[in-house]
Amino acid sequence: MPDKIQRIKGTNDILPGETEKWQALERVIQTVMMRSAYSEIRTPIFEKTELFARGVGEDTDIVSKEMYSFEDKGGTSITLRPELTAPVVRSYIQNNLQQIAPTTKVWYHGPLFRQERPQKGRYRQFYQFGAETIGSPFPETDVETIGLYWEILTELGISDAVVLKINSVGDEASRETYRQVLREFLRPNLGEMSETSQRRFETNPLRILDSKDPGDKAMTDHAPKLVDYLNESSERHYKSVLELLSSLEIPYEQDDRLVRGLDYYTHTAFEFTSDVLGAQDAVCGGGRYDGLIEELGGGKVPAIGWASGTERLLLVMEALEKSQSLTGLDCYLAIPGDEQRPTATTLIREWRRAGLSCDTDLQRRSLKAQMREANRQNARFVVILGESERKNGSVQLKSMETGAQSEMSIAAALKMMLGQA
Ligand code: AMP
Repeated sequence: MPDKIQRIKGTNDILPGETEKWQALERVIQTVMMRSAYSEIRTPIFEKTELFARGVGEDTDIVSKEMYSFEDKGGTSITLRPELTAPVVRSYIQNNLQQIAPTTKVWYHGPLFRQERPQKGRYRQFYQFGAETIGSPFPETDVETIGLYWEILTELGISDAVVLKINSVGDEASRETYRQVLREFLRPNLGEMSETSQRRFETNPLRILDSKDPGDKAMTDHAPKLVDYLNESSERHYKSVLELLSSLEIPYEQDDRLVRGLDYYTHTAFEFTSDVLGAQDAVCGGGRYDGLIEELGGGKVPAIGWASGTERLLLVMEALEKSQSLTGLDCYLAIPGDEQRPTATTLIREWRRAGLSCDTDLQRRSLKAQMREANRQNARFVVILGESERKNGSVQLKSMETGAQSEMSIAAALKMMLGQA
């Protein structure tokens, strides 16, 4: 027997039963995006390595440790995309999207690749959906963008289980002031910090606040806060974002340790977390990146965006026992005897054309087995097409939610299932 080939570590097969949940989630994403006038953008799965080196930052874990990079036969260094903001910005610049409208509003959904240590909720190929709003520096744009994710959570019925954490990293001038203050605070203990943090002390001290090293963490616990060093315009921006969030009744927690250490991040930084997730508790991360487009060779164009892990969001749904609601048939047509099969064939086509999702038995099994199948498929209704009913044009309609069953005409059953009765 030849060896069975296994899938690559950290990747997943998304199987029947699961794909229905993915598609239902995608429909919610699409609907919310469409209502808010965001258009989908699809960029290539691989890009030049340089895009991520510059667009994500050489100093980040993603670029320094986690990228799947290789040389193609022409000697170009290529990377499987580990995130989607840099590709979207590359595409925005390359296709001159700023010429179409002053504000570009795009969303995406697709696979990403990072060579991380796999665990629950952390994979080497995973999916993100996200949105980028490019071209407006104003706080209402931050709230439009953050609010988009909130709408998705609300539509899925899980907004109560997710917390929005928010902070401001200010503009470049505010951060320069703060960098000096932070260095003065850290200097006396410089020798005891981790090697990475010692290196970052001069180049990028803000990233020390992100350090996972327990010693570094303890040392920065009482560090001065960036929000206390915002200049007037940065403070105004932040205050305005918070006020607008409140006016939309989007709850938030200010988290002054939420920093993004790269220079092109400005003002708003945020994260959505859920404590039903365990160790990997982040479902969505985002922020304003007013300097990135210039960094990648475009103009001085402000932008803000977020990205949410699709698997993580589905894990939240599962933990809250909400994922079942994403799936399910409208109707299972049960056939007690083989004489009814020809009628069933035409009926089910009619109902499918009317827009219902319907299935029926293709194994010629007993009625009992068919009822089990209807349950397995999470059908809302079961229609039983018995012999006597077939003769007088009526059927038994059973609601699987209430258990109520009654005889009615085929037309009345269809109306009920369509929610028109
Ligand atoms: P990031 O691009 O690192 O800011 O991550 C944004 C979101 O993507 C996170 O909040 C997670 O939901 C998700 N995510 C990041 N890395 C992974 C991974 N390796 N596996 C699954 N989901 C991930």
